Amino acid sequence: MSHRITLIPGDGTGPELTEATRRVLEATGVGFDWELQEAGVDVMEKAGTPLPTETLDSVKRNGVALKGPITTPIGTGFRSVNVALRHELGLYACVRPCKTYPGVRSRYDAVDLVVVRENTEDLYAGIEFESGTEDAHAVIAFLNSRQQKQIRESSGLSIKPLSPEGSERIIRFAFDYARENGRKRVSCITKANIMKHTDGLFLAVFREVAKDYPEIEGWETLVDALCMGLVQRPEEFDVLVLPNLYGDIVSDLTAGLVGGLGVAPGANIGTEAAVFEATHGSAPKYKGQNRVNPTAMILSGKLMLEHLGERDAAERLEGAVAAVIAEGERVTYDLKPSRDDPTAVGTSEYADAIIERLHTTKGSA
Ligand code: NAD
Repeated sequence: MSHRITLIPGDGTGPELTEATRRVLEATGVGFDWELQEAGVDVMEKAGTPLPTETLDSVKRNGVALKGPITTPIGTGFRSVNVALRHELGLYACVRPCKTYPGVRSRYDAVDLVVVRENTEDLYAGIEFESGTEDAHAVIAFLNSRQQKQIRESSGLSIKPLSPEGSERIIRFAFDYARENGRKRVSCITKANIMKHTDGLFLAVFREVAKDYPEIEGWETLVDALCMGLVQRPEEFDVLVLPNLYGDIVSDLTAGLVGGLGVAPGANIGTEAAVFEATHGSAPKYKGQNRVNPTAMILSGKLMLEHLGERDAAERLEGAVAAVIAEGERVTYDLKPSRDDPTAVGTSEYADAIIERLHTTKGSA
């Protein structure tokens, strides 16, 4: 059976990364029926929007998309396509596995953790009041009338809503993910000692939900302690579940632990749809040069295979990627000991090496 998938190449280096990923995914032997859809700066002029309705409808219809990075142009009035997609499709969970692969330059080995970030609430809900405006004054006057502590009249405000429903949804997601993927521990990351009614609420929900998963260990860690723990002994952490802001920051930190953006995959998952994409952006300065590293996007494809129930193919794909990186010969410049190594290969040739490896392992299986 073929899987019908919306394929969004994106812009900048997106199309070359997506093409490499598509070829590698097809080499696993899994059947795909790709529905090619546009989004990003390249379609903006033609369609009048960087996110055409047909693209959105296609993801809604198919329920699964593989997406290349998309540039957010500054100062054009267009909102980020990435944020719009997450919002329109209700993609409330952002999943970012961070794992060390021998051959990738990193200060650590044996890191294998997964960041599960809530994607819709928290300080990123976009509820803000600009300093000095009538609305800001009205909100400050209201708050000052309700409590002893007074907010300075001139302040700007960003509101941090965290609901029990939103918290339960992401925490259950993290525990379910742990259960389905043979993970042993889920750590709840907050600053509950300071923000009692938001982070404290998140932690209280975590304690309740954890009771439904007795086989998985529930850990509670403050976000500051987590940051120290991650740089001292990252191998101790397993699944981390975090509200939006901490999730954003910590997932960049964990990508840094395992070798950086070039190898950090991601998935944005909701009840109706799932969009798989690398953590990195469109790296526009390398556009069309067949130079950047497609590993993050290929590993996002591996997450997509798991989501589709193609676990055997996902495992073989990860094995092939790991083998090519460990060999260190046919890899992109950023995976070489020095960045100007003349033996580095391009995006497409690196994908060829993974495809060859997949065919060999399939043949010997
Ligand atoms: P970026 O991730 O594109 O690049 C940051 C640095 O990492 C650059 O030096 C780049 O060369 C390097 N890099 C990134 N991906 C790489 C890869 N696969 N292989 C090798 N090196 C790689 O971040 P940026 O420059 O801040 O953003 C560029 C554009 O992408 C912006 O418009 C931003 O809004 C957008 N963006 C999109 C997404 C997305 O589509 N999900 C995510 C982040 C940023």
